[in-house]
Amino acid sequence: MSVETYLEDHYPDALDDLKAFCRLPSVSTDPAYAEGIRAAAGFVADRLTRAGFSGVQLLPTDGHPAVFGEIITDPALPTYLVYGHYDVQPPDPLDKWQSPPFEPTERNGRLYARGVSDDKGPLLIPILVAEAFLKTEGRLPVNLKVLIEGEEESGSPHFEDVLTAHREKLSCDLVLSADGAMWRSDRPSITVASRGLVALEVTVTGAGKDLHSGRHGGGAPNPIAALAGLMASMHGQDGRVSVDGFWDGVTPPDPKIIAAIEEADIDAAAYYREIGVEGAGPIATGRELLMRQWLEPTLEFNGISGGYQGMGTKTVIPNTASVKITCRLVAGQVPDQVLGAITRHLEARLPNGVTLDVHRHGPGSAADFVDPDLPALKISEEVLGELLGATPLRVAMGATVPIGSAFRKHLGCASIFFSFSTSDEDYHAPNEFLRLDNFKIGMKAWARLLHRLGASGG
Ligand SMILES: [Zn+2]
Repeated sequence: MSVETYLEDHYPDALDDLKAFCRLPSVSTDPAYAEGIRAAAGFVADRLTRAGFSGVQLLPTDGHPAVFGEIITDPALPTYLVYGHYDVQPPDPLDKWQSPPFEPTERNGRLYARGVSDDKGPLLIPILVAEAFLKTEGRLPVNLKVLIEGEEESGSPHFEDVLTAHREKLSCDLVLSADGAMWRSDRPSITVASRGLVALEVTVTGAGKDLHSGRHGGGAPNPIAALAGLMASMHGQDGRVSVDGFWDGVTPPDPKIIAAIEEADIDAAAYYREIGVEGAGPIATGRELLMRQWLEPTLEFNGISGGYQGMGTKTVIPNTASVKITCRLVAGQVPDQVLGAITRHLEARLPNGVTLDVHRHGPGSAADFVDPDLPALKISEEVLGELLGATPLRVAMGATVPIGSAFRKHLGCASIFFSFSTSDEDYHAPNEFLRLDNFKIGMKAWARLLHRLGASGG
């Protein structure tokens, strides 16, 4: 029996595995889900063992463990390391889900559950494919290692520790990431660049305590007003980041990605309709929209707080106000320098009567990109072209998968994103889903990819 036939025959089992995995509430950022995290790490370890991987173990960290397993067919063959993550985003707001987030539910050829698209479905695929090779051909065409972490959705704070502590065990020729997403459901694509990330929280403090706005209003500093002024200074009229020094070091984008943007011919108005924006959006053309979302750095305000948030009104001047910020970085930007530029920009504009605190969340990561001439990239494109009926576009990703730069730094190898989730699958929102057709196609694609990587000798 061929590997692909085996996978077709065992599809119902694969779907059961995926549902069982999605029932485990493995939210990494919230300690209330510690049990779900433990269960999901255990699930991955058990599934690797059952598939025939050896050396399966949890690699402990100061946070949640990573899971490792390997199949070494022949040391002379090339070695690929599959990356994925078993943790998921929080399911909130719960009342927006049509079915409970941790009760996987099939509707219209889709499986709905938190984490099904990011990244439980995509990471399960290569494990199932490895099992199919062992059951049919008795061996894998390459050496395969698997590293599944449990902290991706909270910024992978201990991932580099794992890479440094287990450099030898993890050594490989190339990383194949099962995380990341296809750009569109109607056109195959392969991601060759991703943006970096730096996260921070800015707090402005005025008086030593909350004040009565009648007695003190007009004289006391208002930290909400101060913070609003500072925030308004961080973007120009065109919506681009205008923080002094923020753009320092940015290198020009790869022309092949710009060519893909032009070929894609996106309709900006349709995009704004799709995300529910009323009337015209802030950007007029599809070309500029994608340039902004893929190839330019951003500074987004993710949450703001300060003062009275309850029912009715309260006559108060709060003593503090804060905003959470994340920046997406492009090639050439360094997280430390970006944070420094933001801090200096805010300090220089701080009004009298308030103080400033800039708190960094996590180490952040630089942007990453793949060598356009890598043979494995060409093989990946061929496989996707065959199975999805069109030559894949080489695209950039607006989101951040910090593993690209971490693998390059610690293992000295590149990463190819070979994922079968699609970017419209609401993976950080309610009603996350995975297209089950892509779950099936993904299995075929990984089977062909491993075959050809083996035949090509790397
Ligand atoms: Zn992910």
